[in-house]
Amino acid sequence: MKVLVLNCGSSSLKFQLIETDEQTAREGTDRTLAKGLVEDTGGTATLHYEAEGRKPLRDAIGAFQHKTAVEKALAVLTDPETGVIPHKDEIGAVGHRVVHGGERFKTSVLIDEGVIDGIEANIALAPLHNPANLQGYRAARAVLPDAPQVAVFDTSFHQTMPPEAYLYALPYDQYQRFGIRRFGFHGTSHRFVSGRAAVLLGRPLDDPGLRLITCHLGNGASVCAIRGGRSVDTSMGFTPLEGLVMGTRCGDLDPAALLYLMGREELGAAEASALMNKRSGLLGLSGLSHDMRTLLEAEEKGNDRARLAIDVFCYRLRKYIASYVGALGGVDALVFAGGIGENSPPVRERSLHGLDALGLTADPARNEAARGTEAEISPDGARSRVFVIPTDEELLIARDSFRIVSGLSGL
Ligand code: AMP
Repeated sequence: MKVLVLNCGSSSLKFQLIETDEQTAREGTDRTLAKGLVEDTGGTATLHYEAEGRKPLRDAIGAFQHKTAVEKALAVLTDPETGVIPHKDEIGAVGHRVVHGGERFKTSVLIDEGVIDGIEANIALAPLHNPANLQGYRAARAVLPDAPQVAVFDTSFHQTMPPEAYLYALPYDQYQRFGIRRFGFHGTSHRFVSGRAAVLLGRPLDDPGLRLITCHLGNGASVCAIRGGRSVDTSMGFTPLEGLVMGTRCGDLDPAALLYLMGREELGAAEASALMNKRSGLLGLSGLSHDMRTLLEAEEKGNDRARLAIDVFCYRLRKYIASYVGALGGVDALVFAGGIGENSPPVRERSLHGLDALGLTADPARNEAARGTEAEISPDGARSRVFVIPTDEELLIARDSFRIVSGLSGL
């Protein structure tokens, strides 16, 4: 089946056409036929597009709108010069990345009116993302009225967390009245790489004794503790702000420090939020960049603040990994994924520093060689294995969509 995967922001639409079925999903041979991005570039929108065996395309279109963006995507996908399918009816399903499923959505679902109500009910929890995801859905339904549409949530994988992991130690009625709890995000990525790790270990993912720790390290970053294929803890919380140091987000912070700062600097809620979400993390610490590659290059040239930012990033990650070994009572494999996890040997090496006591260590040559491809970086005979696994959230969205539309169980 050909599945169109959509990831919509308020002024951008990422699309990917993926061919998948039961056998290719099992073998990992499902293929991306084409992918593209339509994004607002200051009043007008620009399309970037690439497809198997075609010249990459860049095109300016009018003002950004989700519906015109979907129409444009379908136009290039079906065009005789640029396209990979003769007609839009070839698309068997549309899979949407939806950021927040709250407590209601514990798995991916076929979208119907009730599901739309549920996504709308979670807008308060993801005010920027869920409305954009719904706009993407409405645009796709208008342009592809016959294709079934599926929602795949960033949060649903973590709905298996037990109360001791998802509750904050606030008065319990804050959870009951306002739903203040930890949700976790990046679930699709953690689920994808944990599935690959189980394959590499030669063990069934749902083996209740299988303990995995997965690190998704991109501009946003989170760690997940997984037992028997189920998330039991993760570092992001009520919002994606909690946990690790990220490109521009501070991660864990004493809330009293923020209250103090708000008083000292006379910051309102919006300014305080921008401080923590947009001006902190690697960017805030280094004063230079949110981008790990830039910081590693600057560190090489002797930039002390770049080194400091990378040190805080790696130290925080190391603490989370160690605490999740404790949460799981041991670990069979640790996975690095995301732009940083997949491509940066020094960050992996520094994050594992001192964890050999817990059975986690990297072989220097294997670590150095693993860049952007699936690889084992632990030494032969290690107590716990360490893998680099390129994540592929779109592929998992396509597979979920195919299985749901085909009425297959066992997501
Ligand atoms: P993502 O959000 O998954 O695309 O990841 C983006 C992050 O990955 C940025 O901080 C990039 O600097 C980082 N990244 C990508 N390639 C490399 C690399 N070769 N070395 C270090 N960091 C990298």
